[in-house]
Amino acid sequence: MSLIFEKKRVKGRFLASDNSLVEPEIEIRTNPISLKQSRIAFSRMQQKEPGIDRLPDPPPDALNRGTCPFCRPQIFNRTPRLIPAIADEGYLQNGESILFPNMFPYGSFSAVSVFDDNHFVEIGNADVKTYTDCFVNCSEYLKRVRTFDTDAVYMAITQNFLPSSGGSLLHPHLQIQADRIASNNHRYLIKKSEEFHETTGSYMFSAYLEHERQDKTRYIGNTGPWEWMASFAPEGFYEIWGILPDIVSFQQFTREDWLHLSEGVLNAQKFYRSLNRNSYNLGMLSYEAKESVLELRVVLVVRSNYAAWTRNDHTGFEIALGDMTTFSAPEDTAELARPFWNGEI
Ligand SMILES: [Zn+2]
Repeated sequence: MSLIFEKKRVKGRFLASDNSLVEPEIEIRTNPISLKQSRIAFSRMQQKEPGIDRLPDPPPDALNRGTCPFCRPQIFNRTPRLIPAIADEGYLQNGESILFPNMFPYGSFSAVSVFDDNHFVEIGNADVKTYTDCFVNCSEYLKRVRTFDTDAVYMAITQNFLPSSGGSLLHPHLQIQADRIASNNHRYLIKKSEEFHETTGSYMFSAYLEHERQDKTRYIGNTGPWEWMASFAPEGFYEIWGILPDIVSFQQFTREDWLHLSEGVLNAQKFYRSLNRNSYNLGMLSYEAKESVLELRVVLVVRSNYAAWTRNDHTGFEIALGDMTTFSAPEDTAELARPFWNGEI
């Protein structure tokens, strides 16, 4: 079994208003990991999307600390408490980061980790220490969950940055999940990484990374041991992956690993900001079983701007056909992103 990086090109065909034949090219790629197809409709790059000629203004409640449950002092009396078996104090604190249960859980262990007391932070403007402290807080929570329920091995850290990416509160935070029941992506990635390991003796994301390092066209750079690249067959706009080779558990992370992850996430945020995009999703899954061969990978994708009457990035094509349609080649994404990794910006 090897990872296959498959690309096919097709052409549309129509007559322009002057009767000339136009044949726009579309590239159909298959993601070597998920095996999902994605379509890059190059001609749509020329179409100006509304709402991205400048970074949108902050939302109206950007200054509204008074009603925000994540601002202090409300965070200590309007958010729920962890059970004593997880934390006697009812919450976990690391630096300025405070972690507590999600009031509207999605599974057995569902928590929120607030970065600090800054109520609204524009994309790309956070500092690395704030992110590192918040990630370390998440890892401490997941460690305690793992001790409390040894079967809750399906874990995830996610971020919805602003409401257009699904965030319900402006105040910057991460979500943390752990459960005995695997998500669809956990189930698929665990099976795929095990099959890959059995047949090749190698880790799947290390092999993917090796291919991309040799190819170079989508490789962006590194932050410490984290290696960053544009996804070969994106499942979202300007999709970027960070791979931490050979590491298969959050519990293997050092503080330095979280710091270098934070550096890469903030580089990606600054890149997205340069595109006048103010919203994105982040996600990272782990399978915390002894036999795991699934390495850690973080995925970031831009979402449609939080601005009036902009186009949503999920259409009938994604819902009905299941193929993600994007407009920019991943190779162009990598070229635009590299300056944010190599210290030029
Ligand atoms: Zn707030």
